[in-house]
Amino acid sequence: MDLYEYQGKQLFARHGIPVSEGRLVETPAAARGAAEELGGPVVVKAQVLVGGRGKAGGIRLATTPEEAEARAGDILGLDIRGHVVRRLWIEKASEIAKEYYLSLTFDRGAKQPLYMFTTHGGVDIEEVAATTPEALVRLHVDPLEGFHPWQARRLVYAAGVEDPSEQKQIVAIVGKLYEVFVGCDAMLCEINPLIVTPDGEVRALDSKFTVDDNALFRHPDIAEMRDTAAADPLESLAREKHVTYVKLDGEVGVLGNGAGLSMSTVDVVTFVGGRPANFCDLGGGGDAQGVVDALSVITQDPQVKSIFFNIFGGITRCDEVARGILQALEQIRITAPIVVRLDGTNAEEGRRILADSGSAGLHVEPTMLDAARRAVELAA
Ligand code: GDP
Ligand code: MN
Repeated sequence: MDLYEYQGKQLFARHGIPVSEGRLVETPAAARGAAEELGGPVVVKAQVLVGGRGKAGGIRLATTPEEAEARAGDILGLDIRGHVVRRLWIEKASEIAKEYYLSLTFDRGAKQPLYMFTTHGGVDIEEVAATTPEALVRLHVDPLEGFHPWQARRLVYAAGVEDPSEQKQIVAIVGKLYEVFVGCDAMLCEINPLIVTPDGEVRALDSKFTVDDNALFRHPDIAEMRDTAAADPLESLAREKHVTYVKLDGEVGVLGNGAGLSMSTVDVVTFVGGRPANFCDLGGGGDAQGVVDALSVITQDPQVKSIFFNIFGGITRCDEVARGILQALEQIRITAPIVVRLDGTNAEEGRRILADSGSAGLHVEPTMLDAARRAVELAA
């Protein structure tokens, strides 16, 4: 789960990483009020879950409350690469002497958290990595040993930070970043830019924060930060119904039992020249309610022209799944044709049950490939 800048900064502040004071607003009038409260120049910052807001016109300085109101009016409603701005973070403006970059991310390859630090901040880190790779310092932390303060000193010296006060502040921030990262079960904590003010104060001016979805159950406060209005409506519906669903671009709705089989189903549809409309995993069982929930999500997608049900019965018997499908079809009205492939335990009985039902629009195919072809034909 990705957090907004202001949410990431809240978590930073909670762990003692210095950030600027600010207010969240949704209207130009409120932006003006916030600027009055904060006093002095402010930055009006679009809150969207996408980077590069500055370049897209989503970050603007304002010297007076009137100007803050006007800039807020410019930015609200702006479309930043598909993300419409509905909320703004009004922050006390900082004077910037230097822009650094600091991040801690989960390096899956190394199975360890990875720090990256460079004094070439404020620009895309990919650009630094491509043009001046020697300026980017990388350091892994062994999760079993935990973080050691010498690691922070190594980052700071290797990047060439010379001012002792800066060194001290950055070393402290590096240590606190590890605490936030581990404490929140984060996958990414990025500060770009980490600024140094003309007075020599180091502060996080931006935040990019991703929390591991699988750990949200133990962070109810973070789980609550999810902005359901900004999420894909179909994926939100799926989450509500506990259906494992990912929206894709095609016309063939697919569902299988088990993640591996469901992915193969997506593949086989593509293999025979079709385009899957989604990924959907029914999980191990094939009970009627699970099928109803999955079908009700899949059929909400107006692009779906046919549905491919791919079931392999292992412990779950195909005759049970077949009954589940029929029960589900009684509960919801589906206009798209459904192609079913049943294989595995009690497959023949399952197929017979479906065939005997006489349900119009239900096509039973003997193999996965046949079923994929049929579903793609029906979607054309
Ligand atoms: P991003 O473009 O989405 O990464 O948004 P940032 O929050 O990183 O802001 C982009 C850029 O705007 C920063 O790199 C700064 O150069 C500038 N900026 C942001 N806040 C301030 C501020 O308080 N004062 C000044 N002078 N510049 C700022
Ligand atoms: Mn940034």
